[in-house]
Amino acid sequence: MNTLIPLDKSWLTRVGALDVINGYSDIEKFIANQKDTNDDILAIRNASISWRNNEEINVGESATLYRILKFASWKFKLNKIFACPKCKREILASEISAKCQNCKLSFKKRGGIWNFLYLPNRITSKSLKSYDSMHKIDFGGPIDGSYEILSSIARGNKTVDIACGEGLIERLSPDIVGVEFSINALNKARAKGIKNLVLADAHYLPFRENSFDVAISSGNLEHFADPKLAIDEMARISKIQVLIVHREFDLPFIRTLRKIMTNLLNIKHQPIERPLKWSEIETILKKANLDIVFKGFWTLPVNYGRVIKLLPVFNNIPSCFFVISIKK
Ligand SMILES: [Zn+2]
Repeated sequence: MNTLIPLDKSWLTRVGALDVINGYSDIEKFIANQKDTNDDILAIRNASISWRNNEEINVGESATLYRILKFASWKFKLNKIFACPKCKREILASEISAKCQNCKLSFKKRGGIWNFLYLPNRITSKSLKSYDSMHKIDFGGPIDGSYEILSSIARGNKTVDIACGEGLIERLSPDIVGVEFSINALNKARAKGIKNLVLADAHYLPFRENSFDVAISSGNLEHFADPKLAIDEMARISKIQVLIVHREFDLPFIRTLRKIMTNLLNIKHQPIERPLKWSEIETILKKANLDIVFKGFWTLPVNYGRVIKLLPVFNNIPSCFFVISIKK
């Protein structure tokens, strides 16, 4: 039989393409055991290896393989940026669903929004309820031009915006992938016509390593239960990180003072509010193996509500750090 029926390259190419797009590598083993191969047959094996390793596929001279893979990517709208938010194993998503082969978690896209929400942290999941109700009314954002600047950094790059809220940056640069854990916020972004939206927790991002050139986190690190874990995740998925972080002053007893003032003046806005000292940001970035290239201030003034009326000097103190880091 073996001598009478030789390997058929077009049959192997078709079966191999099915294996590749379904995340199996059996075709590689099959081809490795064959004596009688040719360029077309080796091309399907190489395609399978490249696909598994997240590399660009070189189809060589095989026009059949090229046509089949091109058709399959169109047909299934295959998406290769997702990973399981829990175990980080790479996930091949179809147009509407994805499943982790390792932990069997499944994820769906509904109403144009991918749901990759994985919330093991109790503090985070508790704060989600407050954020969801806060996003029932319009959140608003700075009107000083900072969002125009951030969106221009994003343009032309593969960019992800962590905790994108109602999509204020995405409205200016629609190619950005916006990540947010409040569905109410994302629904609002969606209603404004924003396309690339993912419901996920910043501490457990559903993307593969190095999926993005740039990750932006604008004014949200201070609202996370674990800013270190959030930075580690940003470092995992992106090369360059642009951070705007609410600033804590490097003064003794500052957190106690802030607590007293916040309670006294009743100016707590969000469930978690913990501005960061420069030394804390520096430590977190270093531990994530990131080099700090730019560090400075965003000129948005400190806003202590009623305090400013009493002490107008606060009006001249910038409220946020502006940091750009790069993966070593
Ligand atoms: Zn998993």
